Amino acid sequence: MPDPDKCAIVIGASMGGLLAARALADYYGQVIIVERDALPEGYEPRKGVPQGRHTHGLLARGREVLEDLLPGFTEEMVAQGATPGDIADKVLWFNHGFYLCNAPSKLLGLAISRPMLEGSVRRAVLQLQNVRLLERCAVLEPMIDRARGRVTGVRVQSQSGSDGTQTMNSDLVVDASGRGSFSPAWLDAWGYPKPREELIKIDLGYATRQYRRLPEHLHGMMGAIIAACPPDWRFGAILSQEDDRWIVTLGGYLGDHAPTDDTGFVDFARSLPKPDIFDVIRHAEPICPLMPYHFSANLRRHYEEMSRFPAGFLVFGDALCSFNPVYGQGMTVACVEALALRDCLAAGTQEIAKRFFRAASQLIDIPWQIAVGSDLQHARVEGMRTTQVRFINWYIAKLYRAAQDDAVLATRFLEVANLMRQPTALLDPRMAFRVWKRNRAPARAVTIPLGRTT
Ligand SMILES: Cc1cc2nc3c(=O)[nH]c(=O)nc-3n(C[C@H](O)[C@H](O)[C@H](O)COP(=O)(O)OP(=O)(O)OC[C@H]3O[C@@H](n4cnc5c(N)ncnc54)[C@H](O)[C@@H]3O)c2cc1C
Repeated sequence: MPDPDKCAIVIGASMGGLLAARALADYYGQVIIVERDALPEGYEPRKGVPQGRHTHGLLARGREVLEDLLPGFTEEMVAQGATPGDIADKVLWFNHGFYLCNAPSKLLGLAISRPMLEGSVRRAVLQLQNVRLLERCAVLEPMIDRARGRVTGVRVQSQSGSDGTQTMNSDLVVDASGRGSFSPAWLDAWGYPKPREELIKIDLGYATRQYRRLPEHLHGMMGAIIAACPPDWRFGAILSQEDDRWIVTLGGYLGDHAPTDDTGFVDFARSLPKPDIFDVIRHAEPICPLMPYHFSANLRRHYEEMSRFPAGFLVFGDALCSFNPVYGQGMTVACVEALALRDCLAAGTQEIAKRFFRAASQLIDIPWQIAVGSDLQHARVEGMRTTQVRFINWYIAKLYRAAQDDAVLATRFLEVANLMRQPTALLDPRMAFRVWKRNRAPARAVTIPLGRTT
């Protein structure tokens, strides 16, 4: 039962803030989400979440956790126009020169836009009677009682014209303000050390556009992911969304950015190692302008290493770790952090920051290794290429080759990429044997399923 005398404040009403609020609502009598933006009635992108205009895939683990936190969520999404589909069977996955074999699996995905996903999570979270949203209101800074080493609330400023500031007291403040979080600077100002930051620079340049989706496009598949790999390191993603739309994102690393003019964009799609995306967009009707996005680096803040941290304060979601978006992990990591927060709160609020940061760090380790390890295949990405990283990258390339006609391997790989299984599941002797066996033989002629191009 939530404690009626306890109040928590969450900074930011994007996926991270909403999911944190969902977890907090089981324990705090009052949960107030403070958001700088005016939040749209419908499913539109907004200023504070500029990535909302770009392709967002929800990993199978993310959907599973959303269903746990917000029972009935998948059904509700489908009723509103999202299409459920098998991630292993209905999406083309191309990497290391091969398509993964498509085959039925239990990996359920939802074809849905980011604004619709966030808007629906927001509606579901705000239906909880102890959660309240204060929109058009910016948190200027948390308030701290230095003598007690405790955050006691926040100082806010309304964005609707009045220039006065107000204070709001709370027992806990959760910073879910995203990658640009001011928590390191606030800690510094309060006399605490800043968390160690890990930064892997990738200088991604995205461009995204939506198109009208016709049934014959991509042979009825829900999407295609052409992963970045040598020599060009260009990538593309096309995913179906509600209202018969495609969302298409193209991009490249370290300055090789996708163009934002019509011809350049289509030519960039043509330059990908497989023509699935080009074949759709060269004829499809665009329904919005091309939108650019620049993503400079994978960024992780190691709060779990801090020996001193104020009580009554947590950092959550992208403010903790923001991953190269091509791996589609950020929202799912926020989902599993919400489960971790719920579990930590079940054991009380004593030393909550220490316990939560430790749990979150363990959850972040694997997606971080997946993202950074894969990025380090690019010769010009700077970072430690440990023997383990080199081995895993070598092995995954072999696995892709083997999994072009091995449904067991393909599904196992996607289970790991969807954070449903630990990466060690790929090294299980039975899997390793399949990889070895299929790499011994010369590449064989495989039956190309519908949707795949030779
Ligand atoms: C280009 C791109 C593509 C992506 N694609 C995927 C994908 O395919 N799959 C996936 O799972 N993830 C993806 N992500 C990551 C995903 O968008 C984030 O992980 C997710 O939104 C969770 O982030 P967050 O809520 O912690 O922060 P954010 O989404 O950045 O939200 C921060 C919120 O805080 C508010 N805010 C900030 N400062 C204040 C303040 N002072 N006062 C009040 N409010 C404030 C902002 O307005 C905003 O609403 C992508 C990210 C990018 C950049």
